[in-house]
Amino acid sequence: MDLREKLIVRPGSSIKLSHVDASFHGHFSSQEDASSEITRNLAKLDELQQKLYAEKKHAVLVVLQGIDAAGKDGTCWHVLSAMNPQGTAVTGFKTPTPEESRHDFLWRIHRHVPELGTVGVFNRSHYEDVLVVRVHDLAPREVWSRRYDQINAFEESLALQNVTILKFFLYITPEEQLERFRRRLDDPARQWKISDADYKERSFWDQYIEAYEAMLEKCSTAHAPWYVIPSNHKWFRNLAVSQILENTLLDLKMELPKPTVDLEQIRREYHSAAKSPSHPESK
Ligand code: AMP
Ligand code: MG
Repeated sequence: MDLREKLIVRPGSSIKLSHVDASFHGHFSSQEDASSEITRNLAKLDELQQKLYAEKKHAVLVVLQGIDAAGKDGTCWHVLSAMNPQGTAVTGFKTPTPEESRHDFLWRIHRHVPELGTVGVFNRSHYEDVLVVRVHDLAPREVWSRRYDQINAFEESLALQNVTILKFFLYITPEEQLERFRRRLDDPARQWKISDADYKERSFWDQYIEAYEAMLEKCSTAHAPWYVIPSNHKWFRNLAVSQILENTLLDLKMELPKPTVDLEQIRREYHSAAKSPSHPESK
């Protein structure tokens, strides 16, 4: 199944998240069933990233959004585990600092856009400025409502500079979120992640859904599409994200650059047995 086709938000279409099954897992029955496919995807991503790095003609920007515990951190970890760290960067966007707040909302974003040859992952992004800001009235409606067009123009300008943009909305149900919070409570390694605010935000669920739907509807474009990733199953989320990324990178038709030197000459000059200084005959 081509998950890109299945999970993309078609530009210009509207979406009702209540119609999306957050537990969808395609034709795979379990993590075990999907594991060889996931391993294969990661190996392919490794190879594609090497080409991206060598060719330096494209940059790749992966944007992750989703409610708390939807799996943004886990997705960064998974996708990047396949790649050479030299050539990748993750940026997390938190509540704007006083300095960031004195600038336009895209200022802090723009400086972290990956350069040609590299992959950047945004753990939260400029979309917070039409999500948390909209839900909590952190800016007047006339300010945030203009931002959808501003974001589309910004992303289009990046795309024209060879930045390939993929945006993943990780979708979980409120029941799954509560269950993940509960597991955190019981896991000493992750208790530090728990915050009061995460529980309080749950009472704004419906407003968030409305804001997510507006974001998906207004900002899924041909040059920067949104994908809705059913994320109740972490393994399916990983499979879907890695497969969509792989297929998108394949479309770039990247090639390793041709050697700039004459390989035969180098072989003759430096690697033939007779010339090797450590070879007894060359002494
Ligand atoms: P976390 O990703 O769990 O570390 O939390 C980061 C927090 O920063 C979340 O509560 C976000 O909603 C918040 N945040 C990120 N960007 C913005 C923004 N532009 N305005 C207000 N809050 C933001
Ligand atoms: Mg959090």
